[in-house]
Amino acid sequence: MSGLRLFTLLLLFALYCLAQEIVVNPYEGIDWNNVSQHKANLHTHTTASDGKFHPNQIVDIYHKLGYTILSITDHDIMNKNTNRITFPWEKFSEMVTSKGEKGLYENREPESLGMLAIIGNEISDHHHIGGYFNDFPGSQEIETSLNAITEKKGLAIIFHPGRYKHQYKVDWYIDLLKKYPVIVGMEVYNQGNRYPDDCTLWDSTLSIMMPERIIWGFSGDDAHTKNHIGKNWNVFLLEKLTLQNFRKAMEKGNFYFVYCPDGENGKPARIKRLDIDKVNGVIRIEAIDCERIEWISQGKIVATGNEFKYKNRNDVKGYLRATLYGIDGKSITQIQPFGFSKN
Ligand SMILES: [Zn+2]
Repeated sequence: MSGLRLFTLLLLFALYCLAQEIVVNPYEGIDWNNVSQHKANLHTHTTASDGKFHPNQIVDIYHKLGYTILSITDHDIMNKNTNRITFPWEKFSEMVTSKGEKGLYENREPESLGMLAIIGNEISDHHHIGGYFNDFPGSQEIETSLNAITEKKGLAIIFHPGRYKHQYKVDWYIDLLKKYPVIVGMEVYNQGNRYPDDCTLWDSTLSIMMPERIIWGFSGDDAHTKNHIGKNWNVFLLEKLTLQNFRKAMEKGNFYFVYCPDGENGKPARIKRLDIDKVNGVIRIEAIDCERIEWISQGKIVATGNEFKYKNRNDVKGYLRATLYGIDGKSITQIQPFGFSKN
C-alpha cells in the first residue's frame, strides 16, 4: 500500500471516529423546574373567514380547554376587517363577518382570561403561510408576503406543506427557508393528521439543512368546525406568560408539539423534563403517559428508549429528533430537532 493511500485511509478512519456534538439545543437554558407548560394553538379560523364560530366563541372554547396562548389566523382573502386581521380581541365588536354582517361579535380581554392573544392571519392567495406579530394583510406572491413580514419584524410558519406535494418539491422549500429567516418552521401536523406528508417534508428539509438552518415543527388545529378543535397543539415552556417570552420561545424552539386524535379524552405523552449529559453524551427524556420513544435522524428510526447516547453514532447526521407515543396508543408528541455536528 502506498503512503498516500494509507494516509487517506487513516484520515477517513479518523473522520469516522470523530465524536458527535450537539450544536443546536432547542431546550438550552430551560429550567424544567421553573417553567410552566402553556398550551397554544396558532392556527384557528372564525366567521371572519370560513370558520363556524365567532371570534369570541373561539376564544371561549379554547380558554375552557385550558389553552393559554391563541392566535386567530383567519384567511386574509375572506376577511373584510381592517388589514384582513381578526385582532385585537378587545375590538371584536367592531368587526364584521366574512359576509359583512356587523354587531355579532363580543369583545374579549385576554388578560382577564389569563391568555396571550397573538396577532396573526393565514395568507392564502399563495402557498398558505401563517403570519404572526405583524399586521400585513397578505399579497398574491409568497415572496412579497415574506418580504413584508420581514420588514414588519413579524414571524411566519409554513402551513400544511403536505397539501402541495404535487405542486412544490423539497428544493422549493429549501430555497424559501434559505432566503427567509423570518420563517421559524412548518406545520408537521394540521387538523388532526390530514396531510401525513407534512412530517415527511419536515424530515426531508431537516436532513438537508440541519444543523445550519433550523426548522421548528408545529401542530395546528386549523379549526373551522367543532370537530377540529383541541386535537393539535404546541406546548410552550415559559417562566412567565408574556408576549416577549412567547416570541422568543417560538424563535428558539422552546416548545414541543402534540397530535392527539381523541382531543380532551386522549392520553398523549407529556414531557416532564429533558436533560443533556454532555460528559457522557446522553440526551434523556422524562415523560408522563408515554408508551414508547423513537429517535429519528435523516427520516429513519435510529433508536428507541427514553435516552439516547449520541457520541459515537454514525447514523445521526445533522439532526436528531424524538417521537413519543402516548399510552392511549394513538397520540403523538414530538420534540424539536437537536442539531449535530462531528467534532
Ligand atoms: Zn387554515
